[in-house]
Amino acid sequence: MPFRDTIGHRQLVRLLSRSIAGGSLPPSLIFSGPEGVGKKRTALALAQALNCGRAVVSGRWPVVGGQGPGEAGDELPVDACGECPVCRRIARNAYPDVFLVQPEDSASIKIEQIRDVIAQTAYRPFEGRRRVVIIDEADAMGADAQDALLKSLEEPPPHSVFVLVSARADVLAPTVRSRCPRLRFGRLNPAEIARALARDHGYTEEESRLAAALAGGSLGRALEAAAGGLDDVRAAACRALRQVAEAADSRGRLEGARGLTGTRGAGATTAADREQLAARVTALLALVRDLAILSSRAHGGTVANLDLTSELEGLSRLYDRDRIVRAFTAADRALRALGRNASPKIVADWLALQL
Ligand SMILES: [Zn+2]
Repeated sequence: MPFRDTIGHRQLVRLLSRSIAGGSLPPSLIFSGPEGVGKKRTALALAQALNCGRAVVSGRWPVVGGQGPGEAGDELPVDACGECPVCRRIARNAYPDVFLVQPEDSASIKIEQIRDVIAQTAYRPFEGRRRVVIIDEADAMGADAQDALLKSLEEPPPHSVFVLVSARADVLAPTVRSRCPRLRFGRLNPAEIARALARDHGYTEEESRLAAALAGGSLGRALEAAAGGLDDVRAAACRALRQVAEAADSRGRLEGARGLTGTRGAGATTAADREQLAARVTALLALVRDLAILSSRAHGGTVANLDLTSELEGLSRLYDRDRIVRAFTAADRALRALGRNASPKIVADWLALQL
């Protein structure tokens, strides 16, 4: 995957591309930052850009929402083509000059793995222009493995680049850290995560938004959450819709609000609480949209939550057309308020009274 297809981290990626173009890429680097934001992918994109079989390709970021065409600094002076045999083999981890070192069964990176890879870097690259050694989860190296690596970081063999990837770079030995300039990867924003889910993982727009809201800035976490979390989120939204509609008075409705904020109630004030509520309200919005489709009798493939048909039919007895419109408007406003950092508790209470 070339630089131009990476999600987020534009400044870092542009920096890498420019340093390749200017011949100033440091021979050893640390890519640090949270899990699941694309550090290893960027390291592979770097390996591709250094070795792409179509010599120097220049890239341009695709134009996506919010980023206008021709924006200053949009271009990448060096990028991989992503399609030639070299790029493809690097992406499959089947290229002789790109080494990916990762923890083995013991969850640690052993000194033998490091010695092996160092022995290989003594020779000129077999096929490529630059040999790239990517050490993923570099913090899994023990003290002895880090010591063994130190000399290569100090006096890197010509034609070789070392990239240490880590979500816990601070636990690396100070001697290792002091020899490698560090590129700090930040969290992805929900729009970036949603874009990656839709583009690379076949999510629908609705699913991407929901999973992105849950993800806490990590694409990896969004994918994990999608494996199990989505059902829980939808179930909570379903329960809240029912409880609020069946409540006899506003007190009962506020209890329904608790189903949206979780058990923490008034204590729900953190960014994680806000994300959790946003995910549930997004799910609620999707359910209300389905209710609207069912009420207009225009069903078929357009209902998003097809697997929840019996729950939806139960809810459709509680939600008439006016109420559906009101619920839709309220849930939409609630999401926008959360986007402006409103208190999760206040938003959930307000929503429960509007539904
Ligand atoms: Zn290529």
